[in-house]
Amino acid sequence: MLDDALAGTFSVRDYDETIVSKIESKMAKLLDASRSQQARVADEQRRVHSLISDISHQTRTPLANVSLYAQLLMEQGLDEPQARLARQIVTNTEKLDFLIQQLVNTSRLESGLIRMAPRLADARELIRAAAAGCESDADSKGIRLVAAVGDSPLMASFDPRWCGEALVNIIDNAIKYTPAGGEVRVCAVAYEMFVRIDVADSGRGIAEADLPKVFGRFWRAVESADHPGAGLGLYLARQIVTGCGGYIHARSAPGRGSVFSVFLSKVKDGRKTPARTQVQAGEASPSQQSGGPQ
Ligand code: ADP
Repeated sequence: MLDDALAGTFSVRDYDETIVSKIESKMAKLLDASRSQQARVADEQRRVHSLISDISHQTRTPLANVSLYAQLLMEQGLDEPQARLARQIVTNTEKLDFLIQQLVNTSRLESGLIRMAPRLADARELIRAAAAGCESDADSKGIRLVAAVGDSPLMASFDPRWCGEALVNIIDNAIKYTPAGGEVRVCAVAYEMFVRIDVADSGRGIAEADLPKVFGRFWRAVESADHPGAGLGLYLARQIVTGCGGYIHARSAPGRGSVFSVFLSKVKDGRKTPARTQVQAGEASPSQQSGGPQ
């Protein structure tokens, strides 16, 4: 019975009344209850996923309309205080839209509805595209965003669409948590088995006790309350990168900035952990740090 349960093939029909003892009968009931429980949990997950999808679907049109009407309002010759309020409507609508998208992506990734499709590609393109997408945010905040990728191709295995989103989340944070006048630098280095992408910022950093928590779902530092966000960006980034056979970790010191490193396997579908010697001297093994595969 236990073997069947472990293999997922247990069924109450396997229970033969003529030969079972009291213990067997109780075991059968227990296994049956646990099987029903599993089915209930799976059903619950499906419901939550479909609820989130519905919310996303139903809110998309009204949100787009609110944004459109606010933009039309801004074209009506408003005075400066009125225009500022209209701009606030547009900005906050965009934030809400982004948050809903993150919730939907989280739900889809967790329910297995989205599967990563890693393929060998040049990681420099990934970096260039992600940095270009964050440029205007960096500019408007007065932050120097540098993408230093070099001349040689950096071939690695990743899903360009999803890893692009993961990298944008990380660069976006670096900009968000770095004060005006600071710098965010994205660079990449190739190892024997991995390509490592570093996003380094000169921002406020992360307390040592908080480092293991930053990849948690909905986790935000107390000091982040004055910045927009829901604590899903890094959680999503880690789900995506590990789904492509890579991993991600963070180093930081309060007041001295942070470095988020994304390791992408050079082997398609590779999930091997690199030997310690392949990690830069002076660094702990990625699997010993926060964000590594659990
Ligand atoms: P969000 O930024 O939406 O709050 P994330 O999951 O992207 O959510 O990040 C979780 C938390 O980790 C942030 O709220 C912030 O406290 C911390 N964090 C992430 N990136 C940085 C960074 N580059 N510098 C300082 N703190 C950061």
